[in-house]
Amino acid sequence: MRLKTEVLVLGGGPGGYTAAFRAADLGKQVTLVERYPVLGGVCLNVGCIPSKALLHVAAVLNEAKEISPAGIGFTEPKIDLDALRNWKNNISSQLTEGLAALAKQRNVTVVKGVGRFISDTQVVFEDGDDSQTITFKQAIIAVGSQPIKTPSFPYDDPRLMDSTDALNLENIPKKLLIIGGGIIGLEMATVYHALGSKITVVEMQNQLIPGCDKDLVRPLMQRIKNQYDHVFLETRVSHIEALAEGLKVSFDGKASPETDVFDKVLVAVGRRPNGHLIDAEKAGVNVDEYGFISVDKQQRSNVKHIFAIGDVVGNPMLAHKAAHEGKIAAEALTGKATEWQALTIPSVAYTDPEIAWMGLTENAAKAQGIAYEKAAFPWAASGRSLSMGRKEGTTKLLCDKQTGRILGAGIVGTHAGELIAEAVLALEMGASVEDLALTIHAHPTLAETLGFSAEMIAGTITDLLIKKR
Ligand code: NAD
Repeated sequence: MRLKTEVLVLGGGPGGYTAAFRAADLGKQVTLVERYPVLGGVCLNVGCIPSKALLHVAAVLNEAKEISPAGIGFTEPKIDLDALRNWKNNISSQLTEGLAALAKQRNVTVVKGVGRFISDTQVVFEDGDDSQTITFKQAIIAVGSQPIKTPSFPYDDPRLMDSTDALNLENIPKKLLIIGGGIIGLEMATVYHALGSKITVVEMQNQLIPGCDKDLVRPLMQRIKNQYDHVFLETRVSHIEALAEGLKVSFDGKASPETDVFDKVLVAVGRRPNGHLIDAEKAGVNVDEYGFISVDKQQRSNVKHIFAIGDVVGNPMLAHKAAHEGKIAAEALTGKATEWQALTIPSVAYTDPEIAWMGLTENAAKAQGIAYEKAAFPWAASGRSLSMGRKEGTTKLLCDKQTGRILGAGIVGTHAGELIAEAVLALEMGASVEDLALTIHAHPTLAETLGFSAEMIAGTITDLLIKKR
């Protein structure tokens, strides 16, 4: 069978399905090729959503444990791993079934198979022994990324996991090593620690979540240093040997032991783009040595009628960036003048405490010699935070020294991932510190802390005593 379509979208993750749905809403006849039987990609099936479901469970377990100072005691939790896995999978299924229904309602044709270009107007997709060719007028490449593998590690041993394996919850290892102190590593550490594993984290840089300002990471570091067996910074894993009793790991770092044995090891050292897997050269699309496809502000590749979005066009590899790019590509291919104009892409680590940041980081401001003013409001002075039994949070705001215009914000603390939205909107709307300080925030809320940090810069805060300079 030969198929024909106006717009072919390769990849059904948050970037691909958003692009497909938007293009269909704009009147295009769309075919979406996805290698898995369900839409949603890594995010819905083996990434953002299942990890957040498990992080919710971790938060409930931790809160139950930590409420004892309030005079409330629970017995040790019983963990039914099969039920937990089903519950998590069911959350993903609700969303992926919703996507299938949305695709149907829009008349988007979804075909299952691994797609590869054979020319600049044709893709072959293979599903088992089946192979079909689709002819397209325009295409959007949304093929995502995959975990980076360290070639010398024994990947055929099931005790060595990537993030997908870790989310599968095959069992709860007594002793778990996490290689990589980035977002995936630390989120999975949060989950497995709450479920009862003893955790060691190794990070090769001199801080966890290296892209983030150190002062925002500090409260997380302090909490997990007490909870986990070890957090080794400036440390690498040099060798992993599969023994009957566990994975024997050799470390190379300042404070680490030479070797230790773990029941399981999670490798979370970043992701690499899938640009090399689609024979893009047969369509004339340039793919760089890492697998990235470069695009213009309309997500257009070097081939005029082929667009690319999401992880495959560059960092940060985040679902919300992919979805935004998906809409731009879909609108651009219908002739609209839409282009990338967003000022920032917020980042959130759903650890405990959460860390979220947007706009200019303080590290970047310093490196770029930008004259900024900053305030950091301590959550120890937030009634809402104290009433939740937590006080380690901070809300940091950076603004232009001359104009007071908001440049960046970073929040560490419970629900930081929700709170950052106000700062993103402030940046996008060109708001100043005064705008934020004069906005009435409901009391008592964690959102108040953004208003308070703006008041600190404006010099109007009464919830703290700031010495006059
Ligand atoms: P990452 O790049 O965020 O972190 C990887 C970490 O591993 C880095 O800190 C790096 O310094 C460290 N590292 C690299 N090689 C190492 C080595 N040999 N030994 C020790 N440490 C090493 O990557 P990730 O955590 O794997 O996440 C992958 C992508 O997925 C990222 O782009 C991330 O933003 C995204 N993601 C986002 C979320 C979220 O938004 N909440 C959640 C999960 C993943």
